[in-house]
Amino acid sequence: MQTFRCQCGHKLFFGSTSCLSCKETVGMCPTCRQVTALKSLGKDQWQCTNQVCGQKLKLCQNRIDYKACNCTVAIEEKEEPLCTYCRLNQVIPDLSIEGNLLKWVRLEAAKRRVLYGVESVGLPIGDPSRNDFLPLMFEFKADDVEPVSTGHAAGLITINIQEADSVKREQTRVEFGEPQRTLVGHFRHELGHYYWDMLVEPSKREAFRKLFGNEEDPTYADAQTAYYANGPLPNWQKSFISEYATMHPWEDFAESFAAYLDMTSIVSTAQDFPRIYAEVPPDDFDARLKAYREIGVMANEFNRDIGLLDLVPEVFTKPVVEKLRFMHDLKGIQAQSPDVSSSV
Ligand SMILES: [Zn+2]
Ligand SMILES: [Zn+2]
Ligand SMILES: [Zn+2]
Ligand SMILES: [Zn+2]
Repeated sequence: MQTFRCQCGHKLFFGSTSCLSCKETVGMCPTCRQVTALKSLGKDQWQCTNQVCGQKLKLCQNRIDYKACNCTVAIEEKEEPLCTYCRLNQVIPDLSIEGNLLKWVRLEAAKRRVLYGVESVGLPIGDPSRNDFLPLMFEFKADDVEPVSTGHAAGLITINIQEADSVKREQTRVEFGEPQRTLVGHFRHELGHYYWDMLVEPSKREAFRKLFGNEEDPTYADAQTAYYANGPLPNWQKSFISEYATMHPWEDFAESFAAYLDMTSIVSTAQDFPRIYAEVPPDDFDARLKAYREIGVMANEFNRDIGLLDLVPEVFTKPVVEKLRFMHDLKGIQAQSPDVSSSV
């Protein structure tokens, strides 16, 4: 993620809520999409201090009530207490249960980061209050009443809040033999299913099938049974980004989509540092991939230096590269609301 600048010149980060130097209140402005110092206008009104913006703002209610958000809402949105990211929530955890607030705050931080990245790539996000295209919604639930599976169905992304418990998440990661398992990764994967429904199914299904296979044969249920009985295909690295991607074309798409967002995010971060990859244009897929692979080698060595898992564990064979290119081309497609038949 890029870093931002306070009016005092100090660096601000994507999750900043105040400036460590001048102590001003800081927030994400929805108009200029910058994290900036907020000037108090009194009566719970604020103003973005970005000189080219100056938007009048109020703090997101989830920030006021729970410190669960660092975003703001344009003052013109009179009836709307929540920022554009928080208003997508349909279900949040029961905050009367000890530990749930912390888990929810972690989930929201990952969600905001991923959605901001998706917007930066140029993909649309369906606002449930408008009906322009498939609305995006979130529910964060615990296993208390019935077991909760993390997944996506018809624009609704469900996350089991246990994933925000780092010990449990690491246990699951080892159990399933995954190179990475993070909250950010879950959001990126499930958004892959969302964009398949919104962008691929209505208008790119044939092109999709050429690269990923026929999603109707075998059925998702049969593919799932076979995967958990037999494990991934041998030599899966030749054509797939991960073991899980071999399960079914929908999972292949979601895994590839998540890897594409990893790539755009890491290359953008690198570009934010002076002189590094400044010449890589956002629309040049091959140049970005090349930069990503070089950064991956470097970052993996940094991570290995301190005993962390690899930042970029994937191997980019030709079929995998073509799948990522498919993601890169998604932003040109007209968004539509499809007949929602898939449920993953
Ligand atoms: Zn400052
Ligand atoms: Zn602004
Ligand atoms: Zn918010
Ligand atoms: Zn999936």
